[in-house]
Formats: sequence, C-alpha cells, structure tokens
Amino acid sequence: DDDRLTTPDKRPEDIDAALRPKTLAEFIGQAAARDNLRVFIEAAKGRGQPLDHVLFFGPPGLGKTTLAQIVAKEMGVGFRATSGPVIAKSGDLAALLTNLEDGDVLFIDEIHRLSPVVEEILYPAMEDRALDIMIGEGPSARSVRIDLPAFTLVGATTRQGLLTTPLRDRFGIPVRLNFYTHSELELVVTRAARLLDLGIAPDGANEIAKRARGTPRIAGRLLRRVRDFANVAGEPVVTAKIADSALNRLEVDALGLDAMDRRYLHMIADIYRGGPVGVEALAAGLSEPRDTIEDVVEPYLLQLGLIARTARGRCLNGPGWKHLGLNPPAGSQD
Ligand code: ADP
Repeated sequence: DDDRLTTPDKRPEDIDAALRPKTLAEFIGQAAARDNLRVFIEAAKGRGQPLDHVLFFGPPGLGKTTLAQIVAKEMGVGFRATSGPVIAKSGDLAALLTNLEDGDVLFIDEIHRLSPVVEEILYPAMEDRALDIMIGEGPSARSVRIDLPAFTLVGATTRQGLLTTPLRDRFGIPVRLNFYTHSELELVVTRAARLLDLGIAPDGANEIAKRARGTPRIAGRLLRRVRDFANVAGEPVVTAKIADSALNRLEVDALGLDAMDRRYLHMIADIYRGGPVGVEALAAGLSEPRDTIEDVVEPYLLQLGLIARTARGRCLNGPGWKHLGLNPPAGSQD
C-alpha cells in the first residue's frame, strides 16, 4: 500500500535537504549515539586518521542517512552514497571504491541487501583497505591486490541481525538508533515548522509529535499534511485542534497508528483470537512482505506494548485489545 501516510519508507517528497540537520549539534535526540560519535570523530581527527567503519541500525526514518552525512561533514571529508540493492556486480563496488578520495565516507544504505559476491569484495576493502582482483582465466589466472584510499564505510540497516557475521564484525562502531520520545519529536516538528516558515503553537507541535510513531520522517510528513489543512482552512497557526482534526481525517489515530497497523492488530484479534500467530501467517493474511511486517509495522507496536513477540508467535497484549476497543476472549492470559 503505497499510500500509507505513516510508512517510514523514503518517498520523493521527503527528500527535503533543507530539513536535514547538518551537524551533530543540530541533530535532535539519540543522545547516546551522538555523544559516542562525537568522541570517536574527535579522536580520529586528533590522530589524523579516518574514522573506523560505522554501522547504523534501527527502523526506517530515524536518521541513519542524516547521521552518515553528518559524520562526513564533521570529519571534513567527502560523502558518497549508494545502497545494497543498487550494487549489482562486484565490479560496480570496485569502481566506487577505487574512485574514493583519502578519508571519504562511503555510505551504503540497506547494506544487508548486498549480494554475497559483492560482500566478499568488502571484507578486504574494510579490513586492509585493499581490493583483490582476478586477472586472466584458467591456469594463468592470478590475483592482483590494489590498495584503496583510507575510506570510512558507513552502513545502514534496519536490524543488526540481518547482516552476516563476517560483515557485522568488520564494523568498529555499531550504533543503534531508537524511536524518539514525544518531547524530542516536538523539537523536530518545531524546527521543521520554522524551516518551512509555518506558524505552530506548542500544543500543535505536541499533537503531531504524539502521533508520529516515534519517527522524525513521519513527523515531517504529518507536519506537511497538517499544513495543507491549515492553509486551506485559512488558519495562520497550527494548533492542537487543527492538527487533531487533520490527522483524524487522515486516519492517523491517537497513538499514531494508521490503517495498516490497525489491520495488523485486528488480524491477530479477530482471526487468531489474540495469538500466538506466526509472522508468515500474518504477512500472508495482510498481503504484505514479511520484511515490511517485521521492519516497519511491528517495531512500533512492540515499543508501545500493544503486541508481544514470543517463541510461538505474535500475541496481542492487554493494551492492544484496549486500543481496538475489544475485550480479550475469556480464558486468554491477558
Ligand atoms: P533513515 O536513513 O534512518 O531512513 P533519514 O536520515 O533519511 O532516516 O531521516 C529521515 C528524515 O527525518 C529526514 O528528512 C531528516 O531530515 C529527518 N530527521 C532524521 N533525524 C532527525 C533529527 N534527529 N532531527 C531532525 N530531523 C531528523
């Protein structure tokens, strides 16, 4: 369903470079990640060495790409970006690597989707900053080693566990990104409104923040939609009342859940009497890829405690039933 308002996946309308924080100081939230990065960047700069390879992991829309750009900017080096699915052949990656300048950051989004042959190239590239290339064929074939510039690889993935162990082990700096708190998202919304030259009351920012699924990308998107409603209604300032009525019309509920989230919850409640039910069955029932269910839909529902992930499958928790306005069936644990 491409029309999901609260899907954290990237869309062209989100490529709004103006809204991206450009420095660590400007970056809101993720205090632990920010503090650690600041130390590692300062230390690497002090030694005059490139930063160790960094892996950002966490749900989409939390700022992985933004932080990768910030790392390059704070290190004072160049930034090149690509993504796992785009690198089809090992030659594509070899070309990228040999064209880097000393110190450059190479950002690979969705790094868990690299093909195994391409990933093989990365191991010596990350470890020894070298490329092993086969020349010739048959008995006369031989391997030639090419030195690479001293680059920093910054990888991004939704879950650390999606990476193969050898790849994961080669990142010296793994950084986990978490959902943002409401007050952090209020700051994100207020900052975005200022950059968009839009008047917003504190309670308006709070209302959008509460319904942004812990995700800055969604906060920005909801703000734009609410702005449309405010403009059409001739309201100069976004208040909680305007935000609430706009978001209700967009079917984003009080917790920030959208139609897809509610379909997911209803499937467990109505078809499986609260579970446990396997993720494959849910994915099939909802006609969504399993990855979407696991990476996009479930993390926030888990964070809210509406569902639980058990060895036997997914279960609806008490708050999940309550949110749907339903009672758990008699005899269930909840
Ligand atoms: P990811 O790579 O994790 O999917 P992005 O880095 O593309 O996420 O960020 C998504 C959007 O959210 C961008 O438009 C960015 O400007 C905004 N954003 C992310 N993190 C922050 C933050 N800490 N403060 C303000 N805006 C943010």
